[in-house]
Amino acid sequence: MKIIMLGAPGAGKGTQAKMLAEKYNIPHISTGDIFRANIKNGTELGKKAKTYMDAGQLVPDELVVDLVIDRFAEPDCENGYVLDGFPRTIPQAEALEAALAKIGEKVDYAIDVDVPDENIVNRMGGRRACVGCGATYHVVFNPTKVEGKCDKCGEDLILRDDDKPETVLNRLDVYHKQTQPLIDFYSGKGILKSVDGTKDMKEVFEAIVEILGA
Ligand code: ADP
Ligand code: ADP
Ligand code: ZN
Repeated sequence: MKIIMLGAPGAGKGTQAKMLAEKYNIPHISTGDIFRANIKNGTELGKKAKTYMDAGQLVPDELVVDLVIDRFAEPDCENGYVLDGFPRTIPQAEALEAALAKIGEKVDYAIDVDVPDENIVNRMGGRRACVGCGATYHVVFNPTKVEGKCDKCGEDLILRDDDKPETVLNRLDVYHKQTQPLIDFYSGKGILKSVDGTKDMKEVFEAIVEILGA
């Protein structure tokens, strides 16, 4: 099963993608996580990506596409994957389609996690990420047992630089201009499914599982 998660930054794509990956036993591929790992390790790619990410802009398509397509060659992708944060532009979606067509495959579902802009700033302001394992929490909606410490690995939690309110507004703007057109793109392909992302995490998950089938 090949699934794409669509939605504004903070809509809950990552939260749902992690749960889906576990349920369907497929890898969760997050381009944001890949870039953050590269930044942490001080790679060339990380250095290039960081300037765009800090400004709330998208990393240029040419730095993203090959990275993802190459990832599909790993053995864990044999039964599919859940893509989180990719594609984010029409050219990325076209490149993905072309790469899959070459091997006679296609994406099964594009799931749009729909959350209005008004809710997004709260979501992002309260998001906390673990510096150790990358797990995500929310100070109100998904708190950790011990404040400021990851439930899974015990490391510290941080507010991502790009989750500060100034950058969030920029990212929302970028989302509407560059990523939202993908909703029409996948609707035109007949594989778009929308879920109400304002519901609680469990309900959103149930709605997605209903679409995908057990
Ligand atoms: P969120 O989870 O809030 O949607 P991500 O972790 O997916 O954010 O992405 C963080 C940042 O990484 C984005 O704002 C963007 O700068 C960069 N990025 C991630 N994926 C892509 C992509 N497919 N194309 C371009 N830039 C990307
Ligand atoms: P995205 O990957 O789309 O940027 P995340 O999955 O990281 O979004 O979620 C953004 C923030 O909102 C996180 O702090 C997460 O814990 C929280 N969150 C995710 N889904 C929900 C939900 N359905 N209701 C309330 N908060 C949520
Ligand atoms: Zn952790």
